[in-house]
Amino acid sequence: MELRFKPEHEEFRRRLRAWLRENLPPDWTAGTRSPFERFEDEVAFLRQWQAKLHAAGYAGILWPKEYGGAGLGMVEQIIFNEEMARAQAPELINKVGVHNVGPTLIRYGTEEQKKRFLPKILSAEEIWCQLFSEPSAGSDLAGLRTRAERDGDGFRLTGQKVWTSYAQVSRWAICLARTDPVAPKYHGISYFIVDMQAPGITVRPLRQMTGSAEFNEVFLDAVYVPREHLIGPENGGWQIAMHTLAHERGTGYLFKEQVKHKIAVDRLLDILRERQRRGQPVHPVIRQAIADAFIRVEILRLHNYDTMARLERGQAPGPETSLKKEFWNRLSQHLYETAMAIQGPWAQLYAGDPRAWNGGQWQSAYLYSRSVTISGGTSEIQLNIIAQRMLGLPRH
Ligand SMILES: Cc1cc2nc3c(=O)[nH]c(=O)nc-3n(C[C@H](O)[C@H](O)[C@H](O)COP(=O)(O)OP(=O)(O)OC[C@H]3O[C@@H](n4cnc5c(N)ncnc54)[C@H](O)[C@@H]3O)c2cc1C
Repeated sequence: MELRFKPEHEEFRRRLRAWLRENLPPDWTAGTRSPFERFEDEVAFLRQWQAKLHAAGYAGILWPKEYGGAGLGMVEQIIFNEEMARAQAPELINKVGVHNVGPTLIRYGTEEQKKRFLPKILSAEEIWCQLFSEPSAGSDLAGLRTRAERDGDGFRLTGQKVWTSYAQVSRWAICLARTDPVAPKYHGISYFIVDMQAPGITVRPLRQMTGSAEFNEVFLDAVYVPREHLIGPENGGWQIAMHTLAHERGTGYLFKEQVKHKIAVDRLLDILRERQRRGQPVHPVIRQAIADAFIRVEILRLHNYDTMARLERGQAPGPETSLKKEFWNRLSQHLYETAMAIQGPWAQLYAGDPRAWNGGQWQSAYLYSRSVTISGGTSEIQLNIIAQRMLGLPRH
């Protein structure tokens, strides 16, 4: 693997770094979690930021130019991640759109679907959410019960979804529903694009322990979906869903998390250096925990290089994405536990308390980090995949 950058790549880095210096929102201080109290304000702010990145040609580094992307390669993607972390820049708001929907449509969508939907994902004009999980179908996703029944040239979808991040601000959704109730469970599922403003959709936010309400319950009551919003063949949705989840676990979120963790480690280091300057000792246990986090962030970065090299060779992300997801989950929890330990009794201050460090962003990030071993497939499921598909161990 070539780890040195060519002159044209260094030039890309120089331009991006200068652009970030000029354009980073001056009131942006977060590196861990958002400084906004209201979710809607955060979304509005981040939408503008993504639109700005897109206008400058920095959203969708790998996406083809004809669909609004930058049409660049893996090396530019790596540089983009590194420079976003270095500048402590806000992340993209349209996470599901960019990391899950985009790679799925690029691989399985029709030309009309790509032209219609991809450009507005990158510009954040249209936010997307993912209607996969249901009250009794999470780890066992293929057990989903939402049904899609033929109606003329389209379908009517009826059922309940849960844990849908960003549903309340989404214009569109990717959705799995059962089109053949008698086929074996993996064979009767289809993959749809659902209009979140269609009659029959009800969205109910769920408040989480951070105080924010990113998640929602979504009810579908005979929601009409035209045939041209089916992705791939009818009853052929399962394989496409696995492609979406492999990207969620192994590429998109991994790139995003790498940036977030690098920012967090750098910020903790700044805090400790400042303490040292003021003559306050740094406990050896804390020093070691930070060194440990720093090493793990570096390992994650190298894993990312490996993933990107595989993608560049035209290979699809495989079961090793589970290994990476499990690795960053543990890193994430270690990092924010360390951040809480450094604060000592101050860690007990409520997120949002003006006396708390950075307005309590660390507390909020710590609470949020408890969810990472559940989202995108639980740790137990990742370990099952690693055991069976990478190590060849029997199922039972
Ligand atoms: C932050 C966050 C964001 C999310 N966003 C979305 C979203 O936008 N869209 C969406 O569709 N979903 C979303 N989810 C839902 C997520 O995908 C599910 O929570 C997850 O798949 C687990 O499903 P479950 O909650 O139903 O738990 P269950 O599947 O009921 O699991 C319960 C427990 O049993 C264990 N378990 C289950 N099966 C096995 C097994 N075979 N072997 C060993 N242990 C097992 C699990 O590991 C877990 O500990 C989100 C979740 C979180 C936390």
